[in-house]
Amino acid sequence: MRKTSLFIIFSFISLHAFCWGFYGHKKINYFSVFLLPPEMMQLYKPNIDFISEHAVDPDMRRYAIAQEGPRHYIDIDHYGSYPYTDLPRKWNDAIAKFSEDSLMEYGIVPWWVQTMLYKLTEAFKEKQQAKILKLSAELGHYIADAHVPLHANSNHNGQFTDQRGIHGFWESRIPELLSEKEWDFFIGKADYIKNPGDFIWQRVLESAKASDSVLLFEKELSKSFPADQKFSFEERNGTIIRQYSSAFSIAYDKKLNGMVERRMRQSIYAVASFWYTAWVNAGQPDLKKLSGKELSADDIKEFEDLNNAWKKGTIKGRDEEQ
Ligand SMILES: [Zn+2]
Repeated sequence: MRKTSLFIIFSFISLHAFCWGFYGHKKINYFSVFLLPPEMMQLYKPNIDFISEHAVDPDMRRYAIAQEGPRHYIDIDHYGSYPYTDLPRKWNDAIAKFSEDSLMEYGIVPWWVQTMLYKLTEAFKEKQQAKILKLSAELGHYIADAHVPLHANSNHNGQFTDQRGIHGFWESRIPELLSEKEWDFFIGKADYIKNPGDFIWQRVLESAKASDSVLLFEKELSKSFPADQKFSFEERNGTIIRQYSSAFSIAYDKKLNGMVERRMRQSIYAVASFWYTAWVNAGQPDLKKLSGKELSADDIKEFEDLNNAWKKGTIKGRDEEQ
């Protein structure tokens, strides 16, 4: 008799699926390329696969390096209530008030985005192609994370309100289910951002504000939705997994009034605009005349190490899904 080897996991198969999921991050970086001016497109378009694939490196790094985690979020509710004016927006002022250890504990995404913008600007000035592409891919990741409401709330996976799994539900399940067929990512053009600090703080504050609805609407819908239809079971790679059903996902997306699509579109616009801003601030170097086109041995080793750490699957620090 053939024994069935399927086994059921009564939890979400959300392992490796945090921060827009790998799917969402790759899409965001991919679509961002099409907002760039022609002078930049000539570098980014032929390298669009690299830009998309490496959108997820910062998440992989969370499996390798403990300091990586706080760069992806900010538990801004730790600092009082909206609009959190107790928290200085400038890094040095914030350190002086709360200490670096404390800032690291509650997350630093709005500051890290600005650090990465600086690094990318320097790479453009140095005219180093491999570095420009690597940093562009990674900057895209952190900007996209700043747009996710649950990256700006300490109840990041509904762990305080009996809603575990909501993190992956919002940023992975819904985009994977709906973005391909229903959503539109043709957005127009990137803009120059005069004050990147203000810009990213604004986006983080919007995320923080939206996080209340993200949590509340799931609760409300769960009460009105037939309990036996909230989840569905699906086979993936020989394993049966439980996930939010299509019907529940669609109803939740409706209740959120297109929020997930809107935040994804805003991410794309922001990513392209930050890339463009870095290039302008570096003096608009001619991207046809770059050096350092090959990845260095160190870069290649880093990619391999990230992959291996990720495959082993033990995250250092906070895991959004646990
Ligand atoms: Zn992330």
